[in-house]
Amino acid sequence: MAKLHSEQISRRLFISMIIIIGSLIFISVPLIVSSYQSYKKAEHALIEISVLRNVAELTNNISRERAPANKVMSSTPADQARHLEELKQYRLQVDQQIQDTIRVLKREGFNHQAFYLSDQLQASLRQGRDAVDAYAATPTHLRRSEQLDQAIQKMFNAWDSSQYVLKHVMLDSVGKDTAVSTYYSVIFILSDLRDQAGRVASNVFAAVTFGEKIPEENLANSLQNQRQAYYLWDLVHTILPEAHKVPEYTVLHNQLKAEFLDQGIPIIKQLIEQSLRGEPYSLTGTQLTEVMVDKFSTVVDLQTYVLDYSLALAKKDHFKAQQKLILTLVVTLISLMAAIFTMVYARSKVFIPLIQARKQILALSAYDDEVSALINNKNSDSVSLFEAIQKLKQRLVQRDNLEFQLRNIANTDALTGVSNRLALEEYLKFLEQKPEKLTKTGLIIMDVDKFKHVNDTFGHVVGDQALKLIAKTLKANVRSSDLVVRFGGDEFLVVIDNIEFTEALYLADKLRCQIVKDEIYIPEINDYIKISISAGVAVGAASWSSLLEKADKHLFRAKARGRNAVEG
Ligand code: GH3
Ligand code: MG
Repeated sequence: MAKLHSEQISRRLFISMIIIIGSLIFISVPLIVSSYQSYKKAEHALIEISVLRNVAELTNNISRERAPANKVMSSTPADQARHLEELKQYRLQVDQQIQDTIRVLKREGFNHQAFYLSDQLQASLRQGRDAVDAYAATPTHLRRSEQLDQAIQKMFNAWDSSQYVLKHVMLDSVGKDTAVSTYYSVIFILSDLRDQAGRVASNVFAAVTFGEKIPEENLANSLQNQRQAYYLWDLVHTILPEAHKVPEYTVLHNQLKAEFLDQGIPIIKQLIEQSLRGEPYSLTGTQLTEVMVDKFSTVVDLQTYVLDYSLALAKKDHFKAQQKLILTLVVTLISLMAAIFTMVYARSKVFIPLIQARKQILALSAYDDEVSALINNKNSDSVSLFEAIQKLKQRLVQRDNLEFQLRNIANTDALTGVSNRLALEEYLKFLEQKPEKLTKTGLIIMDVDKFKHVNDTFGHVVGDQALKLIAKTLKANVRSSDLVVRFGGDEFLVVIDNIEFTEALYLADKLRCQIVKDEIYIPEINDYIKISISAGVAVGAASWSSLLEKADKHLFRAKARGRNAVEG
C-alpha cells in the first residue's frame, strides 16, 4: 500500500470536506427553497384571506342591496321618498366598498379581478339599478309585475358578476394548496347560499307585490333556490373537516338552519301555496322584504366566523412556515460552519503541526550536515511521518550503541580488555540489591608471581604481554556471567555469582594451571618464559570488603607457601 504523507492526507481531507460541504449545500438548498416557498405561500394565503373577506363582504352587500331596492319598488307613494333615501345611502355604501375592493385587489396583484369589478360588475350593477330606478319612477298605475321582476333579475345579474370575482380570486389564489383552502370553498359556498336564500324570496316578490299568481318560471326558480339553499347548507358541513367543526361553528351552522331555512323558507312556501290555491297573499311585497331581510344575518354570521377562523388558521400557518424556514436556515448554517470549522481546525491543529513535527523529527534524526539539506530540501515532503520516526529510531539506536561503547570503554581495562574497578563497582551495586546479597558470591583474587622481576628482566612490553595473556586465559576459562577484573597492576579478580566453595577452589586451581601452562616467546633470548600466579579464594561474606579481605588473606597464604599456589 502506498504510504500517505501528512500533506496528502491533509489534501484528501480537504477534498472530502469540500464534498461534504457540497453535499450539504446540495441537500439544504432545495430544503431552504421549499421552506421559503411554503413561507411565501403562507404569506400569500394570509393576504388572500383578507382579499377574500373583502370580496365576500362586497358580494353579500350587493346581494343585500336587493332588500332596499325591493322596498322602494314595493313601497306606497307615502313611504317611497324615505325608502329612496335609504336605498341611496345603501348604494353609496356599496359604491364605496366597490372602490375599496378594487384598490385591495390591485394592491395584491388581482388585476384581472379588479378590472372585471370596475368594468363588468359596475356595468351590470348600473343596469340593475337603472331598472330599479325606472320602475320606481313609473307611475303606480302603469307598473307591471314583469317590469318589477325584470328589475329584480337584473339585480341578480349584478350579484352574479360579484360572485364571478369571488370565484376568480379563489382560482388565482396561491393558498389553494394550503391548510385554509377548504375555507376558501366554504366562504364561496356561503356567499352562494346567501344569494340563493335571497332569491327564494325575490323570485316571488313581484307576484306578491302585485297580488298576482306566481309565474311558473319564477315558481320553479324559487323552488330550485330553496333546494339549493338546503343543499349548500349541507355541503358546508360535508366539506368542512371534522377537526375544524368547533362548537362555535356548530352553533352558527345550526342557527342558520333554525332561523333561515326552518323559519324563512316556510314563509315563502306559504306564499307559493297561497298562489297555487288562488288565495290572497298573507304578506305585501314590503312586508315580505322586511320579514326576510333579518333571516340572512345567520348566513353572514357563519361566513364571518369562517373568515375569522381561516384568517387565524392562515396566521398560524404563516408562523409555522416562518419557524420552519428559520430552523432550516439555522441548521444549514450550523452544519456548514461545523464542516468548515472541522476542516480549518484539522488543518491548523492537526496537519500543519504534524508536518512541522515531521520536519523537526527529521532534523533531530539527521546528522549535522544532513540537517540543513533536509530542511531546505523540498523533497523532505516526500518523507512520511512514519519514515521520519523510523529515521529517528535509527538515530537513537546508533546513539545507544555509541553510549554502550563509551560505557564499555569506561568500564574496560585498556591494556587487557577485561573489566576495570569501575565495572566492578557497578557490578557490586547490582549484587548488593539482591536479597541473598553476597552469601553465595565467590571471589578469586590472583597476583602474578615475581612480576617485578619479569619487568626488570625482560622489560615492560613483555610484562604487558604477560598481563594480556593472563587476562585472555582467564576470560577463556570462566563463564560469561562471571566477572573478570584487573584489580591492580598485576592483580586480577574473578567474581562468580552463586558458587560453592569447592567449585570456586577448583576453578581457581584450574586457572592457575592454565596460566602456568602458557609460554611467552622472548625474541631477545630466543626462548620461552613461563608466568605463574598465586590465588586466594573466598565464598560468601556479609560485605564485599570482608569477602575481599578473606580472599586477600588466602592469597597472602598462597604467596607465603611459595607461590604458584591456591589457598582458600
Ligand atoms: P610478588 O610475587 O610478591 O607479587 O612479587 P612481585 O614482584 O609481583 O611484587 P608486586 O606484586 O608487589 O609487584 C607488582 C609489579 O607489577 C610492580 C610493577 O612494576 C608491576 N606492574 C604494575 N603494573 C604494570 C603494568 O601495567 N605493566 C607492567 N609491565 N608491569 C606492571
Ligand atoms: Mg605480583
